[in-house]
Amino acid sequence: MSEPTIFERIIEGDVPGHIVYETETVAAFLDANPLTPGHTLVVPKEPYTRLRDAPPEVVTDVFEAVRTLSPAIEDAVDADAATIGVNDGTAAGQEVSHLHVHVVPRFEGDGGGSIHTAVGSVADLDDDEIGEIGSEIAARLG
Ligand code: AMP
Repeated sequence: MSEPTIFERIIEGDVPGHIVYETETVAAFLDANPLTPGHTLVVPKEPYTRLRDAPPEVVTDVFEAVRTLSPAIEDAVDADAATIGVNDGTAAGQEVSHLHVHVVPRFEGDGGGSIHTAVGSVADLDDDEIGEIGSEIAARLG
């Protein structure tokens, strides 16, 4: 058996955490290093590493929880919006190998960027190149 992830240990109560929501398959707790007040992580209880590793019904449960939680989180900290995202893989900045959705409350004028600021240099692709990539994706979906 592999070591439990830090998130499993929070869910089990072995590591202190601020759990705000729990179902049979999903838990949500406050990030220990919040980007903004209310920064919350929504996780499947099973430690799937990436989105692709989780069964569709679990992904549904996780995103239903995000849908339920995000207004409550925003209201609790009087936020104006939220950035909701997954660092899906180490190259995307994933540090904890247990799938989690960040819900980061956002405030007018908070100085942060959008998801469009997640990469260092923006791709320079013409419409044909974009279309070819689209075909490659579609071909993999049968
Ligand atoms: P990521 O880079 O997407 O893997 O993000 C991992 C997140 O987990 C970071 O925002 C960390 O602050 C957060 N984190 C790490 N350890 C803990 C912990 N013990 N309790 C709550 N959040 C944690």
